[in-house]
Amino acid sequence: MQVADKSVVTFHYTLKDINGNEMESSRGGDPLAYLHGGDNIVPGLEKALTGKTVGDTLTVTVPPAEGYGERRDDLQMRVSTKHLVWEGKLEAGAQAYLRTEHGPRMVTVIKPGKFMVDIDANHPLAGTTLVFDVEITEVREALPEELDHGHVHGPGGHHH
Ligand code: ZN
Repeated sequence: MQVADKSVVTFHYTLKDINGNEMESSRGGDPLAYLHGGDNIVPGLEKALTGKTVGDTLTVTVPPAEGYGERRDDLQMRVSTKHLVWEGKLEAGAQAYLRTEHGPRMVTVIKPGKFMVDIDANHPLAGTTLVFDVEITEVREALPEELDHGHVHGPGGHHH
C-alpha cells in the first residue's frame, strides 16, 4: 500500500546537513514509526513520503520553512532559573526545559547565571536545511486506537 493519511509508516533515516555532515541516524537501531497526516514529523518530509511504498528509498532536502522553522532572534531571552528544569550542570550549550503555559519546552543555555539564565528557545535545528536519506520498511493502516491518540503504538512508536 501507498503512504497516505492514516497510514503508519516505518522507516530508517539518516539526517544530514546541507554539507553532508551526519546529525542523526536510526540505522543500527530501530526504525522510526509515525502516523502519516498527524503532524508527527517535519512537514517537508511528510509531504515527500506521501504516495511512496515499502522498499522505496529517497533523499529529501527540506528547507527550514518546511523543517524546524527559521531561527528567531526574539526566542533568545533571559529567564529566572526557577522557570528552568535541567539535569547535570547548567552551562553554555546545555539543554534545559523551560516551563511554559503550553508545557515544558526544550531550550539551549547561552549564558548561565546564579539567578538568571540567557537561553535560546529556538529548536536546535531551526534555520537548518535538512537532508534526509530515507528507506521505507513498512506501511500499514493505523489502528482505530492510534487514530484516536494521534500517534503510533508498538515498535518504533509510543508505549503506554
Ligand atoms: Zn497512544
